[in-house]
Amino acid sequence: MELLEDRIRQDGVVKDDGVLKVDSFLNHQLDIELLDACGEEFKRLFGDALITKILTIEASGIGIACGVARCFGVPVVFAKKAQSINLDGDAYVTRIQSYTHGRIFDVIVSKKYIGPEDHILIIDDFLANGCALDGLIDICQHAGASIEGIGVAIEKGFQPGGRSLRERGFRLESLAIIEGMDPETGAVEFRSRIKP
Ligand code: 5GP
Repeated sequence: MELLEDRIRQDGVVKDDGVLKVDSFLNHQLDIELLDACGEEFKRLFGDALITKILTIEASGIGIACGVARCFGVPVVFAKKAQSINLDGDAYVTRIQSYTHGRIFDVIVSKKYIGPEDHILIIDDFLANGCALDGLIDICQHAGASIEGIGVAIEKGFQPGGRSLRERGFRLESLAIIEGMDPETGAVEFRSRIKP
């Protein structure tokens, strides 16, 4: 998606640990017009699927998920980072390794908000190794819900998560796929795509 790629080139900050900071428009301050445009693009990409809920993970997936949910006219459910003290039988629980913080944490989704009748579109801001998305997939599978697709704003194509999910047969669409980033120059190289 050209608009997102241009914004990453303009305002993204490449760190030397393989992390792209997008705090000025996606991860801290939110550009709502851009999020709405991303939502419309996901609607174009997944518009043929029956979607009843958008599932994401707190906190950085919530903004983009809201843009998508508005276009589909369905609610957003976000997986919450849980203290083990909160865990009871009313929630699906899964364990995720955090890419940016390096530690493992539990996330939960209440059984009230996802069930076997649901058709889920999973949305997140970034895809790197795929641990966050694996956790969300695990929750959907425990709930017996159908996963109609996975939408990611920024996929780091030089990390293995995207390839692995596609090989497993998931319908994965990423709005911008980064092939390489240079922390010295700040340059970001995108995978070229066939224009619709
Ligand atoms: P994964 O679980 O696929 O390894 O990493 C994805 C998660 O880690 C996303 O939910 C996102 O919050 C975070 N993440 C991974 N890579 C980056 C990055 O380069 N920049 C930012 N801002 N977050 C990232």
